[in-house]
Amino acid sequence: MAEVVRFFIDGKECMAKNGDYLLQAAKENGIYIPTLCHYDGLKPKGSCRVCTCKVNGRLMTACTTPIAEGMMIESNTLEIEEMRKSIIELFFVDGNHFCPTCEKSGYCELQALAYRYRITAPRYPFLFPLKRVVADYAKIIIDHNRCVLCKRCVRAIKDEMGKSFFAYRRRGQNIEVILDKRMSDRMSFEIALEAENICPVGAIMAKRTAFTTPIGYRKFDKITIGSDIEKIKTK
Ligand code: SF4
Repeated sequence: MAEVVRFFIDGKECMAKNGDYLLQAAKENGIYIPTLCHYDGLKPKGSCRVCTCKVNGRLMTACTTPIAEGMMIESNTLEIEEMRKSIIELFFVDGNHFCPTCEKSGYCELQALAYRYRITAPRYPFLFPLKRVVADYAKIIIDHNRCVLCKRCVRAIKDEMGKSFFAYRRRGQNIEVILDKRMSDRMSFEIALEAENICPVGAIMAKRTAFTTPIGYRKFDKITIGSDIEKIKTK
């Protein structure tokens, strides 16, 4: 089997290691495919669907699709970009996201995607679901109003034995992230900060720290999400 394969994204010839996932392979070729649930180094989940592309004419999530020789991928087309925009809008109406009062503003990937897609107001009616803010953990606060159920926290934040601090409970509309009570007591401040950072939105906030970087000086106050990837020089 060939080590390196050739494929095409929106007509551009790309090369990647055989079996690499499309999202990563695109990135290595200087093409940004938006995502909320993917995080480099974590097993892909395909839960947010924001990275959906057309692969050989079929809709597939780029984070879970291994690249193969000769694949024809559509990503930056009107149809796909409009679909992604709708998905992002649905995240806004399905939760309660109040950016001006959120500590994660300027670092939030959902907010940054809304800026990228020039969303000023969703086209769908807000659902205003009743969600909990849980502040009785020792080191963190979980604000379920902002959670996009990407599972990054569950997949990434583990103890030295590989046991997850976070888990999902319930199903369907009532699903939510919880922090294991016993694990919560053992959570260090460093792990709390790591959880805050890995969460793409402001659903996990470490206690005893806030607004360390003023608004206007934060990551997405300065750059558009994905612009760092689009600047990667390729041959
Ligand atoms: S708490 Fe954050 S990281 Fe965890 S599932 Fe929700 S949005 Fe994702």
